[in-house]
Amino acid sequence: MKNSNLPLVVKAVTWSRDSHGLYDYESRNVHKKLIQVTKPCVLTRLGNEVSQTLSQFDMKQANEIDPLCHIDPVNTDFTVQGCSDTMWMVIRTMRTKYGPGYLLKEGDTIKLGRVCYKVSLLRSHSDDSLSDKTQDSDESDVEIPNERETGICRICLNSDSETANPLISPCKCAGSMKYIHLLCLRQWLNSRMQSRVTENCITYSWKSIDCEICKSCFPFSIGNTGKETELFKIQKPETPFIVLEGVGNDKNSNRGVHIVSVTNGNDITLGRGHEANVRISDISVSRCHATLKFVDGRFLIEDNNSKFGTLVNICEKIIIKPLSSVVVQIGRTVVSFSTRIQQQGIDSNDIMN
Ligand SMILES: [Zn+2]
Ligand SMILES: [Zn+2]
Repeated sequence: MKNSNLPLVVKAVTWSRDSHGLYDYESRNVHKKLIQVTKPCVLTRLGNEVSQTLSQFDMKQANEIDPLCHIDPVNTDFTVQGCSDTMWMVIRTMRTKYGPGYLLKEGDTIKLGRVCYKVSLLRSHSDDSLSDKTQDSDESDVEIPNERETGICRICLNSDSETANPLISPCKCAGSMKYIHLLCLRQWLNSRMQSRVTENCITYSWKSIDCEICKSCFPFSIGNTGKETELFKIQKPETPFIVLEGVGNDKNSNRGVHIVSVTNGNDITLGRGHEANVRISDISVSRCHATLKFVDGRFLIEDNNSKFGTLVNICEKIIIKPLSSVVVQIGRTVVSFSTRIQQQGIDSNDIMN
């Protein structure tokens, strides 16, 4: 391990009032800290004070200290790895070769205000030869209960369990209420579904999708060994599309699925406003929060100077090359890492741009 020529300049902004881990990008009432990093260290927060801790030992002395991330110099680069809290990249600070924003990948989790979506499916070609296998679940590989058990479907009271319509146990119910047919459950879920169709977007939402008996939430798909069967059977568009699946801890958060079809030149807006293509009814979401574009066969999301930002979850190490910079949000701290030649001082405009 060798120190780079340029130190890593860390600008941290933290705020005292935590509401759903949201950072008000318009707020001026923040605590700022400028740190230069040349050695391996852990960035920590104690109250409103962000500092670099050089050894693990110091950190364990106080329980209230929040470790944010590990920073390591590697040759001329620096690596940043999150600690326990999720590390989010701040999309408004990101650029792609197509312009500002971030190119979405399947499996990404994005956060608009406090609302999270998983990018569960991306289809960039209309004539995708990889036609969606989950659309016809005849060859589904769902777990069929042990033959020794006598399962009876709690809806139709039938005990038949076939490959095309197996008895499954998708919730925490036990005993005589344990099993339900895949198709019986799907039908029940469909009856509770509402859909909203606009020019470029179909939104499916469910008032609630929890089991009425045990109150556990039905998963979006079931199965094992990577081959999943969707419980929610929904129509996929012909044009390129992206599926945003609501991820929520609390029951009233939108457990819905947005299927957004995108064509060249058509920007899709996501926001709380009535005119938004994808409407997200949450106070933490700005009226026109973000824009989704289809460029060169890829899906680009751009933040539209939203109040609470658009973020994307990052699990792997971030590598900061010389003369570059990265901005992340960890809990209630926004940190900018930069190896650019810096002028002294810090202001909140700087961290946002
Ligand atoms: Zn049944
Ligand atoms: Zn149940």
